[in-house]
Amino acid sequence: MTNKHKTCGFSTRAIHHGYDPKDHHGALVPPIYLSATFAFPTVEYGAACFAGEASGHFYTRISNPTLALLESRMATLENGEAAVAFSSGIGAIAATFWTLLRPGDEVIVSQTLYGCTFALLHHGIGEFGIKVRHVDLTDLAALQAALSPATRMIYCETPANPNLRLIDIAAVARLAHQQPNVTLVVDNTYCTPYLQRPLELGADVVVHSATKYLSGHGDITAGIAVSNQALAQRIRLQGLKDLTGAVMSPQDASLLMRGLKTLALRMDRHCSNAQALAEALQAHPAVESVIYPGLRSFPQYELATRQMKLPGGMIAFELKGGIETGRRFMNALQLFTRAVSLGDAESLAQHPASMTHSTYTPEQRAQHGISEGLVRLSVGLEDVADLLADVHQALAKCGRNTVRQAATAPSAVR
Ligand SMILES: *Cc1c(COP(=O)(O)O)cnc(C)c1O
Repeated sequence: MTNKHKTCGFSTRAIHHGYDPKDHHGALVPPIYLSATFAFPTVEYGAACFAGEASGHFYTRISNPTLALLESRMATLENGEAAVAFSSGIGAIAATFWTLLRPGDEVIVSQTLYGCTFALLHHGIGEFGIKVRHVDLTDLAALQAALSPATRMIYCETPANPNLRLIDIAAVARLAHQQPNVTLVVDNTYCTPYLQRPLELGADVVVHSATKYLSGHGDITAGIAVSNQALAQRIRLQGLKDLTGAVMSPQDASLLMRGLKTLALRMDRHCSNAQALAEALQAHPAVESVIYPGLRSFPQYELATRQMKLPGGMIAFELKGGIETGRRFMNALQLFTRAVSLGDAESLAQHPASMTHSTYTPEQRAQHGISEGLVRLSVGLEDVADLLADVHQALAKCGRNTVRQAATAPSAVR
């Protein structure tokens, strides 16, 4: 595998890292190795592969040339040493948990988490003798108080799904590493390494749902874990090979590498479209509040500008009139698609209380800061004028008091 683009910029590495056409009959696009198994030249070489002493591929659940190229690209983009590819984000997260946690251990998790990660913790590892403690990780004193000799992992998402609360990764990493054997794991799905690189801020493992922005086209489910060599190898040999078997298919790895080529371009556009929509929503009389890290009213605006290159493509907002108005707004959308997931070219709208966070009880939602009327937008790559027009027409329809401004965008929006 070539390493000649090591010192190049983000997009150059996303397009070229680890691949030279001259090693592959001149093929510009890396070939897809569909083989499940690989031939050993001698039985001795096979034995060395099994013992981990030779680096050859021998079975695709453990490694495959197409997956290896993708993994090396993700590792360089996150500025980690090694990465492991999975068939879904939850595959990557579950494999990381099962590899690093044992009965009797404690894991401290941030308050608000992706719904299936929450379910995995409470209905999965939590039922196997691992203690799960939710702590407000924006409160460093609370984290300090929650750390115990049994703590083995701190797990968080920043920005959180769906309320976009941020966690100061560098500050949490400093506390985590005061104690030996505490691993800080950060879900970087919302940002991608283009906007935020947790390993540079002191995290030990980054996990991704590559189903979202990394793929960017909504046509695969995929996951990635990135870390140092030793941890990544443990996650591969235990979490992937033995405990979950959640291996990514080589075709999906090829699609994911196609997505990575345009990651920077897409993220720039997601962010500029979202900024315009967030400003328009904030200026609208039907809107109670808008949560977007690019707004000066965002409570952690300073942390957002420090930790993230750009504010991201996700917006959460509350309409005046709560859940009923929220439903009417959602049903009136014409260009935005009513769907879960995020990070696609298509703009998507969803209602967390009835969709992604329905695995929480209403009390848990309240506790985790997800109000019943909250609407979440994944702002896509369409023309911003069309997105603004759709939101304005839907706002005009959703409440009697909100008819003005139906046709034109407020002047604050450029
Ligand atoms: C979607 C998502 C996941 C789960 O990933 P899958 O690919 O759906 O398994 C985990 N974390 C976050 C933040 C997500 O948005």
